[in-house]
Amino acid sequence: SAEEVLAMRKQHLSPSLFLHFKKPVMIVEGKMQYLYDERGRRYLDAFAGIVTVSVGHCHPEVVEAINHQNQLLQHTTTIYLNNQVAEYAKELADRMPGNLKVVYFVNSGSEANDLAIMLARLHTRNWDIICLRNAYHGMSLGTMGTCGQHTWKQPMPQGFGYHHALNPDPYRGAFGDDGRRYAADVADLIGAATPGRVAGFIAESIQGVGGTVPLASGYLPEVYKLIRQAGGLCIADEVQTGFGRTGRHYWGFQRQGVLPDIVTMAKGIGNGLPLAAVVTTPEIAAAMSGRLHFNTYGGNPVCSAGGRAVLRVVDSAGLQAHCGRVGARLLGRLRGLAEKHDVIGDVRGEGLMLGVELVRDRRTKEPAPSETAAVMESMKDLGVLMGKGGLAGNVFRIKPPMCFTEGDADFLAEVMDEALS
Ligand code: PMP
Repeated sequence: SAEEVLAMRKQHLSPSLFLHFKKPVMIVEGKMQYLYDERGRRYLDAFAGIVTVSVGHCHPEVVEAINHQNQLLQHTTTIYLNNQVAEYAKELADRMPGNLKVVYFVNSGSEANDLAIMLARLHTRNWDIICLRNAYHGMSLGTMGTCGQHTWKQPMPQGFGYHHALNPDPYRGAFGDDGRRYAADVADLIGAATPGRVAGFIAESIQGVGGTVPLASGYLPEVYKLIRQAGGLCIADEVQTGFGRTGRHYWGFQRQGVLPDIVTMAKGIGNGLPLAAVVTTPEIAAAMSGRLHFNTYGGNPVCSAGGRAVLRVVDSAGLQAHCGRVGARLLGRLRGLAEKHDVIGDVRGEGLMLGVELVRDRRTKEPAPSETAAVMESMKDLGVLMGKGGLAGNVFRIKPPMCFTEGDADFLAEVMDEALS
């Protein structure tokens, strides 16, 4: 029973784990955009295992690819040749713009960002990293320093050489949607806090954990210029925004028309398999040539087979355009709710990466975290699971599997309306 599982979890799993609901949900089965609890109750999943189940829970083509590979070969490491990982690297590189052609496979988003920072430091021979307040890039010793939210940091030194720029947040930031004005802060930061030379800059184009915050317009082109002038590399964290989720583009950075030097990806890349990657140019990758760098599981054949199936499904089912269509409809419905419910301060995002921020007062924008938790709990009781985020925990994060339909969007909006009422 859920009670027994909860008791075992409390006794034997880390006390740092947290549950999203006061009355916990136990999930035992998933099928496309639906999850089922131990009693067989169905939930519409609008959070996709924290933006990870990209093409659908247990998508038949992904399951089939994994099962097939599972019976053929599970693991050897990259000390032998294997076709799966090589073909996968080529297929992934084929989906990247510019000269982003060299792939490192790793196992998590944190590991990918750690490696990206290491590559930037090795290639530039500089140390300082510019990141954003409100950012989240991982939990490892390396990436924790990049996080701009104290809630995700452990009480210990966070490494050094990480500098947090003003967040270009159109809703809460001082300069609205004017990305150039926030970018000026990066120039100040480089001048004031670094030797004038930096290793790199890391950002998502839409902050995920931070509460679905799309960076202010024109921000990235301006910052990329400043960073490159200071000798640094530009790292795009596509852990949440990649693989077509934002609808208009396959990669989130394309929203601002920039070309990064290093791209990191995880979560949706493997539909839930422990798989992540760093993609960069041959010139930058050369920083590591002649040196050993290795991880045991990276590019293992089962994960590679699953990742390849994800790429195929996103293309064959037209999921990128689908996210654009369904996301536009859902955004419209959520904006309609904002007209009716004063507690909604902001509705934002693109494609199937949407956020709804709750506030106690639209003028002061005082966050409404307890209201957010209460509405999420009611929506769960009404059969819809969502996530939440933002520094104060007052933003609904709506990031379902990409197979989410227009009917699902309408249902979610109706349930949210009822819960808010
Ligand atoms: N980057 C972003 C943008 C993320 O959202 C996350 C995970 N929430 C990470 C990196 C870290 O990924 P992982 O949990 O796989 O280490």
